[in-house]
Amino acid sequence: MTTTTAEGGPGLPQERRLVTQIPGPRSRELFARKQAAVPPGIGTTLPVFVTHAGGGVVVDADGNSLIDFGSGIAVTSVGNAAPRVVERVRRQAGEFTHTCFMVTPYESYVTVCEKLNALTPGDHEKRTFLVNSGAEAVENAVKVARSATGRQAVVVFDHGYHGRTLLTMTLTAKNMPYKQGFGPFAPEVYRVPLAYPYRWPTGPEHCAEEAAEQAIDMISKQVGAANVAAVVIEPIAGEGGFIVPARGFLPRILEFCKANGIVFIADEVQTGFARTGSLFACEDEGLVPDIITTAKGIAGGLPLAAVTGRADLLDAVHVGGLGGTYGGNPLACEAALGVLETIEAEDLVGKAARIGEIMLPRLRSLQERFEIIGDVRGRGAMTAIELVTPGTKDPHPTAAAEIAKRCHAEGLVVLTAGTYGNVLRFLPPLVMPEHLLEEGLGILEKAVSEL
Ligand SMILES: *Cc1c(COP(=O)(O)O)cnc(C)c1O
Repeated sequence: MTTTTAEGGPGLPQERRLVTQIPGPRSRELFARKQAAVPPGIGTTLPVFVTHAGGGVVVDADGNSLIDFGSGIAVTSVGNAAPRVVERVRRQAGEFTHTCFMVTPYESYVTVCEKLNALTPGDHEKRTFLVNSGAEAVENAVKVARSATGRQAVVVFDHGYHGRTLLTMTLTAKNMPYKQGFGPFAPEVYRVPLAYPYRWPTGPEHCAEEAAEQAIDMISKQVGAANVAAVVIEPIAGEGGFIVPARGFLPRILEFCKANGIVFIADEVQTGFARTGSLFACEDEGLVPDIITTAKGIAGGLPLAAVTGRADLLDAVHVGGLGGTYGGNPLACEAALGVLETIEAEDLVGKAARIGEIMLPRLRSLQERFEIIGDVRGRGAMTAIELVTPGTKDPHPTAAAEIAKRCHAEGLVVLTAGTYGNVLRFLPPLVMPEHLLEEGLGILEKAVSEL
């Protein structure tokens, strides 16, 4: 069976349509081939093989059309095969596909950097350079901070996720699956508490102040502020469970960094590009980071990531000290320009906020009905529920897995997350039509109530 249209993108019928079991026979056949050819270390959330996607749906090889609450992990925020992205990439592919920006440069790379310098928080002078993945961006941000400060230590937080390379898996908090068996880890990485309101021992009202005090005390006493090159933090912890730090925590950490010459690196790889109802999540508390790392939503799925920061920091690195063969590939740069045009033309910042206004009240009323939902949180189109054993705060990862399984069977793509694996996270494309958002929420509510 094939789909009704040859093309993906927003022209795909915006409907949930199940014509086989999930996964269907064609996907099962392809999955068997995957298992024989690809190592199991590359996991699979939902084994349907995609042929088309666009708007709020993903269409599989059996002709099923699924509602997408994942966006390929917060990547296709502008929608899959978004027209402005497709048009620019098609044109660029016919002109040239690669020169290496460090060999013979091209304009689109510079334009992306100019735009990021202008759009990221703060009106100070900035520089940007481009790489291929979120991990590479974070790793490079740390290189810049070390080079500029002459210091070595890096401070990260509980529940943090920063990637899978040696340095970034070291920066990541969770052992299984990200670190298990992959040591020894990179030296000079120190972890301090995050202001996690739901699980703060003395309650959410004291969380920001106490967590900041503990973090700063640990940095001062155990590491020595003068030895710290950088603090790396996600303004909302992503893989760690969509934890929104208690208000006041991030500004306090930033202030401490400023007072001690520590580079504050905001890892906005997951929160960036309109996802949380502002272009960058740091804007919510008016934070101006020294360096900001971006990726995921930046280029509609083409591999691109960026390091943007204070000119004096980025200019401190010697000529040739930064870069890579593919970083800022011309197709990916064109895609990024198409993404930025789409965010503006379709008011995706406003759309993300609107998605939050629809989802959060629905999730909270579900929480009132079902004690298994311990916490509802998030901002804009980055929301989550945390599952617990009723009457306690004990993490309930099997409930999260079971609800996800039921949603998948009904044609709703949802992802899990969390240090304890007990969080269901929702990351719909920002262009998702409202009727699909409502239908997806209905499927989720049914899955929770039937558990
Ligand atoms: C996904 C993610 C990364 C890693 O990005 P990759 O492109 O997978 O290397 C880093 N930081 C955060 C906050 C992320 O969500």
